[in-house]
Amino acid sequence: MEIFGQNVFTQDVMRERLPKAVYKNLKKTIDEGLPLDPSIADVVATAMKEWAVERGATHFTHWFQPMTGVTAEKHDSFITPTDGGIVMDFSGKELVKGEPDASSFPSGGLRATFEARGYTAWDCTSPAFLKEEADVITLCIPTAFCSYTGEALDKKTPLLRSMEALSTQAVRILRLFGNQTATKVTSTVGPEQEYFLVDKSYFLDRLDLMMAGRTLYGAMPPKGQEMEDHYFGAIKERVVSYMKEVNTELWKLGVTAKTQHNEVAPGQFEVAPIFETTNIATDHNQLVMDVLKRVAIRHDMICLIHEKPFAGVNGSGKHNNWSMGSNDGQNLLDPGNTPHENAQFLTFLMATIKAVDEYAGLLRASCASAGNDHRLGANEAPPAIISMFLGEQLSEILEQIEKGATKTSKGGSEIKIGVTTLPALPKDTTDRNRTSPFAFTGNRFEFRMLGSSFSIAGPNVIINTIIAEALKQFADKLEGSKNFTADLEKLLQETAKKHKRVVFNGNNYADEWVKEAKKRGLPNIPNTPEALKELVKKEAVELFVAHKVFSEKELHSRYEILVEQYVKTLNIEALTMIDMAKHSIMPAATSFATEVAQSISAVTAVSSKIDVSAQKELLEEISSNLSSMNKNVKALEKVLDATLNISDIDKQAAAFREKVFAKMLDLRADGDALEKIISADFWPLPTYAEMLFIL
Ligand code: ADP
Ligand code: MG
Repeated sequence: MEIFGQNVFTQDVMRERLPKAVYKNLKKTIDEGLPLDPSIADVVATAMKEWAVERGATHFTHWFQPMTGVTAEKHDSFITPTDGGIVMDFSGKELVKGEPDASSFPSGGLRATFEARGYTAWDCTSPAFLKEEADVITLCIPTAFCSYTGEALDKKTPLLRSMEALSTQAVRILRLFGNQTATKVTSTVGPEQEYFLVDKSYFLDRLDLMMAGRTLYGAMPPKGQEMEDHYFGAIKERVVSYMKEVNTELWKLGVTAKTQHNEVAPGQFEVAPIFETTNIATDHNQLVMDVLKRVAIRHDMICLIHEKPFAGVNGSGKHNNWSMGSNDGQNLLDPGNTPHENAQFLTFLMATIKAVDEYAGLLRASCASAGNDHRLGANEAPPAIISMFLGEQLSEILEQIEKGATKTSKGGSEIKIGVTTLPALPKDTTDRNRTSPFAFTGNRFEFRMLGSSFSIAGPNVIINTIIAEALKQFADKLEGSKNFTADLEKLLQETAKKHKRVVFNGNNYADEWVKEAKKRGLPNIPNTPEALKELVKKEAVELFVAHKVFSEKELHSRYEILVEQYVKTLNIEALTMIDMAKHSIMPAATSFATEVAQSISAVTAVSSKIDVSAQKELLEEISSNLSSMNKNVKALEKVLDATLNISDIDKQAAAFREKVFAKMLDLRADGDALEKIISADFWPLPTYAEMLFIL
């Protein structure tokens, strides 16, 4: 594993290359998550530059994550002209601050409040790395992106703030348990990334894949995923060599790509790194998506990260494995071995249950997008209803806590907070509920609603903040307590009573659950325009402002950008469908109809006695589908026009969902019907069978 981390300016490299005092100062900054001390910035910058230049870097960039969800870079050369020559230069100022033009990134109204310029500042808790693209090597400095008035224009800043909020509140709880050593709690994440691979030649023949990242037409092939022969099946050679190269590239970048296997759908795969601190996991997941796409091209394939590239087979998600750890080495969601550890575990667990129940709408909103609308609620992904899976044992413990710890449970065991040791909880994967959106998996939670193309920043901002709030309420209640154990027991009992409704261990895909959830009063938010509204509700604003994660203005800007993205996505999809109907599907159908008609005349000319009813029937069928398609194209154009004229963005988003999307489905049905009856020689698009099974 010599290559591991070779392109990363790691703490080891820093220790080697920096004067001792500077390294110590920087290390402290990193451990405590403080801004970089300007007095050492020049020294750090020089060491970083020398390290990068030795490895062939010619440029540097402040690598940041604007609100589009992807990453952005502004490249600068190290070269500085001097009198009569050039030097390779990189100052502390350039390390600490960059000034990209903020006006070219979405700001959701924040732009108006400041000049177009924003600045980027190194997040020194996330290490700098070298990106190799063709023969250009660039030093990338992970940064936060803010406006000059201090508003966050990116996804990293709120994430760092939410980590801070969680740390503050979690440390308060640890103190209540007598812990004086921990000074910081960090949330940790291991995201499992799903993706599809298709041969590049097919991709280039599909306008929909190129424009929208998903197929907007496509009839089902005779074989889908029903044989279940792809999941964990043998990986094809071409894919093996692709994965090998992906791993190498990721290892160089210090990303611990670990597992890789086939997913449920044909052509679908997964890669998961070992968990890390959330902001680093977020940066690394961006690199994972980037590397997956870039390496695919080298193998004449295209990596599709869209949530639903193909109708009728599974879509792609991203499982967000989440926990929190203290800097004295504890995983706070690990039950531990002693009654004391168990009591602490139950407190953090109960805070999580409370948070998920109280802010289910926000969690739902954090996973809302046009792409993910094809998954959530459909019968393959967790439903749009937020519930939690605890497993049998832990649910029983919850029940006992609710009843009052002194009562004996069915099993005869008795749970007394601070006195009882919990039974070992299974961490076995076989015992897991794979239909639950928020599942406890032994020492962490797995939030399974995220779409595959998401930045994991958004959902983790929400998870960190809502749990910080629950912990805050616990700490507020318990800090003044005269009898900690008794008061804790009471608090956990109340919490269990109030929030047990969010716990559901059954099949989340069953229709009965939808009814049951309704009875329990759990929200079931069907689509993106509805879900996003949760972000700007009064409770949400109060929550984020209280924990200094988002100002009200920042929150509204996020809302606007997300709604805008939804609208733009559907608009592009609708236009692409119209284009494909007019420029490829309808002309192909017309040509084939002509061929059939000519064959009828030709055959009839030979003898009027020959039966041409099959040809006639076929011609009728083509013509009637063609005519339906023509009508639906016109109808879609009309409704799209009307929708684009709606000035209120909320109403516009709703109209896209209710009207435009409905028409798109009609149009697709026509296209798919034609695909089924038109000769393969005439059909202009690569088929599902080709795209899914030929790699
Ligand atoms: P599965 O497919 O069964 O869900 P995987 O092994 O594919 O399991 O993924 C599990 C993920 O959970 C890995 O990325 C792993 O590093 C991560 N994980 C393990 N422990 C923690 C933790 N304490 N905090 C966050 N993530 C964790
Ligand atoms: Mg998983």
